[in-house]
Amino acid sequence: MSLVLYDTLRRDKVPFDPRIEGEASVYVCGPTVQAEAHVGHGRLAVVTDVLRRYLGFRGYQVTFVQNVTDIEDKIILKARREQVAPAVVATRYTHLWNRTMDTLNVRPPDIQPFATGHVLEMQGLIQELIDQDKAYEVGGDVFFRVRSFPGYGKLSRRQVDDMQQGEDVVDADRKEDPLDFAMWKSAKPDEPSWPSPWGDGRPGWHIECSAMAAKHLGEGFDIHCGGLDLVFPHHENEIAQHEAAHGGTFARNWVHNGMVRMGDEKMSKSIGNVVALAEALERWGVGPLRLWYLSAQHRTPLTFASERLQDAVAVHQRFVTFVRSARAAAGDVTPDPAVGERHRDAFVAAMDDDLNAPAAVATLHELVSDGNDRLGRATAGDEAARAEVAALAALLVEICDEVLGLGLDDTLAQAAALESRLAPMVDGVLASREKARADRDFATADAIRDQLTAAGIVVEDGPDGPRWYTAVQVPPALEE
Ligand SMILES: [Zn+2]
Repeated sequence: MSLVLYDTLRRDKVPFDPRIEGEASVYVCGPTVQAEAHVGHGRLAVVTDVLRRYLGFRGYQVTFVQNVTDIEDKIILKARREQVAPAVVATRYTHLWNRTMDTLNVRPPDIQPFATGHVLEMQGLIQELIDQDKAYEVGGDVFFRVRSFPGYGKLSRRQVDDMQQGEDVVDADRKEDPLDFAMWKSAKPDEPSWPSPWGDGRPGWHIECSAMAAKHLGEGFDIHCGGLDLVFPHHENEIAQHEAAHGGTFARNWVHNGMVRMGDEKMSKSIGNVVALAEALERWGVGPLRLWYLSAQHRTPLTFASERLQDAVAVHQRFVTFVRSARAAAGDVTPDPAVGERHRDAFVAAMDDDLNAPAAVATLHELVSDGNDRLGRATAGDEAARAEVAALAALLVEICDEVLGLGLDDTLAQAAALESRLAPMVDGVLASREKARADRDFATADAIRDQLTAAGIVVEDGPDGPRWYTAVQVPPALEE
């Protein structure tokens, strides 16, 4: 068995065959830091974080690079509106991005290169292309000569004559060919600029990624990730710039994720239908939010709907509840790992198939059902059953927390802290319920239990008397 990934370039699922055995180098196009992250951004973050964690789980030594685009038209525009320097805007939103990623339980990149820190590398690549006659300078701007690169269009499978770069019309009369795109833009008044052989100016967006990926991961690194909306022109141009200059292969695999949709449209800042990622985290919590992102295979579109997030809250709660009950029943028994093997194999088989997260989560539901079937015997003290549920709970936590980043253990630790604060009160209320039961006043006993349930406290009656814990409250549906 080996990991198979769908490669956009080859339009096929292909076995992962790294450049160096046992290692995996991954580059992800990072944020343009000019606004806070929204739920659409969270999908790429979670998909690539799970890819990275899963590669680690499968034994690969992973190097994960995600850049920060800290110089770009939108940053300059925002800075002008706020009457501050573009670097102020970029710094503020870089901090905010990193903090939100942290809350989303996304591991920080091993390397987080900033575009403004790599201007020399970008200029070096541009100069190589000019020297090879694959780029040209006009009035301080430098354009890539698209028709000089025969492989142009291979990623997006477009015909050269059907393509448009979507750049400023301003450039149109200065380009040799409308298809050419800017790698270096001459300085405009009040804009940040760097000296260069072609006069003061700043880099274009596409050259940033070509230069930073090659610098930090080298030629022919393993996996380049990004949203499907970046295939053309951004990724097509990244390939062209690198491969036109150096030959060889820029990236061995292209993994793209589908968009998050709001109704029938893509969730995007320009359409104005975004939900802030920090707000979604606050509302649904990190585990449920990540489960929602993983509820669709990563290449397919995913529609934002609060009912689906409520479903994810329920799944998260089911997993947490099983771990809690299993640990309570198992006590300090030595786990019996044999019982988990088929569940581990099923999870790996699902993930190996192009990171099929919905299928992988389905295997975890089977694990929990299997565990719940043994829980009765374990709670009754059956030694073998206790060892089995202990192993199943440990495996569930290992997979959910290490690979999927759901934070089951964190949730349980937070619940335990809350429960220890509530204990004096709840124990008192339960004592009065026990007294009502002893007096055969079942109406009062039931009313007390209903009040606790309404307050988010679940009471379970067992042979040793009642046991209670706090349940996650499912937030009500959003007005849409
Ligand atoms: Zn990029």
